[in-house]
Amino acid sequence: ATPMAVMVGTGLGAMNGILFKNAAALEDATKLDVIIFDKTGTLTLGQPEVVEVVAAPGTGADAALALAAAVEQGSDHPLAQAILRRAAGLNAEKASGFANIEGKGAQAEVAGRTVFLGNRRLMDEQRIDMAGLAEKAQELQGGGRTVVHVAHGGKLVGLIAIADAVRPSSADTVAALKRRGVQVAMLTGDNRGTAERIAGMLGIDIVLADVLPGQKTDKVKELQAGGKKVGMVGDGVNDAPALTQADVGFAIGAGTDVAMESADVVLMKSDPFDVVGAIVLSRATLRKMH
Ligand code: ADP
Ligand code: MG
Repeated sequence: ATPMAVMVGTGLGAMNGILFKNAAALEDATKLDVIIFDKTGTLTLGQPEVVEVVAAPGTGADAALALAAAVEQGSDHPLAQAILRRAAGLNAEKASGFANIEGKGAQAEVAGRTVFLGNRRLMDEQRIDMAGLAEKAQELQGGGRTVVHVAHGGKLVGLIAIADAVRPSSADTVAALKRRGVQVAMLTGDNRGTAERIAGMLGIDIVLADVLPGQKTDKVKELQAGGKKVGMVGDGVNDAPALTQADVGFAIGAGTDVAMESADVVLMKSDPFDVVGAIVLSRATLRKMH
């Protein structure tokens, strides 16, 4: 595009809360074949809430919540905040030796025994028996809930089902991109069941689930190796390397500073639909050079 067209294009974007950091991003946005959206905090509001607690046989829901809350005091994960809010009125347990288990959960010592909490993969790794709740967990995940499993001393104590509402414009964003010939994918550390359900609600057909934080970049590279120009939209610290790797990285304005620093385009209104705006604007700007 001519320097003038680029100036007009980036100016129009800025007026609409779409900040292109450089002229290359404006040009590259016209060429995107596929756009990968992070799930949590990007397609969803990132305001998780506990909606159900299921106790394992012989235990109680409050016991499971109190144990989970004791561990989550050491965590800054969004799921931890949801659990701590729900457990606010309960008698607190004392935990020590907190450790984050990246992409899977966390652990700490309570009453001389280890609490593991997190996803099913973590339970399987720790050889924790599902105490007859495997189907219940699957059912919750199939309903779009994220299930946090709580185990103490090697035994499952309960399941905490957490919901995170999708952003109001997420489905329209997906539809508008597909109409314009852009493929849409979802990328998440969350489990496949939950991810598939939310993707289904939004009309997304490519689901990359159970992805560990360090693997997000690889998913972008794999698509690029297949000859595609890849856009990535994210909000989290975890997303930053993938935003850099993508041909165009888009950061949600309400997200982390690192995500915004790593992105080529910042969506100031934190509205995923502005990705469509960015592409429409870039295509219009580039047409002006012909
Ligand atoms: P995402 O942000 O995409 O959910 P993460 O890598 O942060 O990905 O987490 C992946 C999964 O690991 C979560 O969906 C959750 O099941 C589990 N997990 C991670 N950290 C915690 C935590 N502090 N408490 C409970 N579960 C956790
Ligand atoms: Mg996120």
